Amino acid sequence: MSDSSSSLSRIRHRITTYILIALLAGAVFGLILNLVGQGEEGTFGREYLADGLFELMRIIFMNLLQMLVVPLVLVSLVCGTASMTDISALGRIGLKAVGFYLCTTMLAISMALGMAYLVQPGIGAEVPEVAEEELFAGEEAPSLLETIGNVFPSNPFAALAEGNMLQVIVFSILLGIAIVLAGEPGRKVLKGFQQLNDVIIQLVWMVMLIAPLGVFAIIAANLAREGFMDIFNLAQYFFLVLGILLFHGFVVYPLILRGIGGLNPLTFLRKMRPVQMFAFGTASSNATIPVNLTNTRERLGVDNKVGSFTIPLGATINMDGTAIMQGVATVWIANVSGVDLSLTQYLIVIVTATLASIGTAGVPGVGLIMLTMVLTAVGLPIENVAILLGIDRLLDMVRTAVNVTGDATASCVIAKSENALDEDVFRADN
Ligand code: ASP
Repeated sequence: MSDSSSSLSRIRHRITTYILIALLAGAVFGLILNLVGQGEEGTFGREYLADGLFELMRIIFMNLLQMLVVPLVLVSLVCGTASMTDISALGRIGLKAVGFYLCTTMLAISMALGMAYLVQPGIGAEVPEVAEEELFAGEEAPSLLETIGNVFPSNPFAALAEGNMLQVIVFSILLGIAIVLAGEPGRKVLKGFQQLNDVIIQLVWMVMLIAPLGVFAIIAANLAREGFMDIFNLAQYFFLVLGILLFHGFVVYPLILRGIGGLNPLTFLRKMRPVQMFAFGTASSNATIPVNLTNTRERLGVDNKVGSFTIPLGATINMDGTAIMQGVATVWIANVSGVDLSLTQYLIVIVTATLASIGTAGVPGVGLIMLTMVLTAVGLPIENVAILLGIDRLLDMVRTAVNVTGDATASCVIAKSENALDEDVFRADN
């Protein structure tokens, strides 16, 4: 038993390296398949690998990740809330988190619009005809009242079963408060939750062990099917989005960490590497919650009472990377449709893209569907979204990495302001 647990711990220490190797190996293997024509329909590579074995590996991996999300969020948030000595801190942390998420998303979208205004991507671009079956159905913006009302679960078990993250968050917080108020019986229940928390963390690690295989399969299958061909047709759009994403992830967040949190951004980025790779590989903020939460608590030193709330909330409502893509895509679509956006329309884009990114579920590809909401708000045609679909997968992977980095940045800065950041752990070479 001790032998197997020590070899497990060796693997844990090297998991970042293994995931990185898997990413690169998957990319090389997928590109080779694509280049030798094995990504085409009807070939062995496509039928048995990309759509066969790799697809099976992807489904198993993503399902196992999703399996962790609800139990982990429920248990850690109940423990986090119940450990607060001062319940008013809860409201403060909540306000700080929502404020932080809204401000950074608005900053991200404004920056994206500003850059897109300067570069004007899409002017003079040859836009292929969109086939009838590829047309996008528009997304209706839900009413504000409905959105706020639906944050409160009528049936917590349904919320848990459906993985409705905002409802799960509200239920966990209420349960945590009730545990505190219940006195002695509450303390017994809390002990149970704390023990369950330790068990679930082991479950996270068990799933992490197959992460390299899952990441390899996802990347290899995507590249085998699509290669890099479409990027060349939409290079200006692609590289503009990519450039702003990287700037936001590697310059804006570090500046916030340093400026507001007084924390070393290089240490932060180094420790975020496995989480970013994970988000990149899965293109899902939601599936990255377990890894991000564990990393934020154990390696960045954020107290559970902050991290267990800010990470799942961020994965649900904080999508700066998605907002960046939506800003540039809106200007691109306006240009290819020959529409000149007015200043008022730019302002409408800032507001709707912020709302759209809040409403975007943290799963692959949803950001592009929510883009239709932004386009409708400024009266732009939505059918050209289908053209962007061809290159969206790679951008989705990068923007998801940015999205989760934003969640961890918020967690560190808020924890610091609440005296809930263990700076020794943050600095340690763990
Ligand atoms: N895949 C993104 C995420 O999970 C959402 C999106 O932009 O499509 O964060």
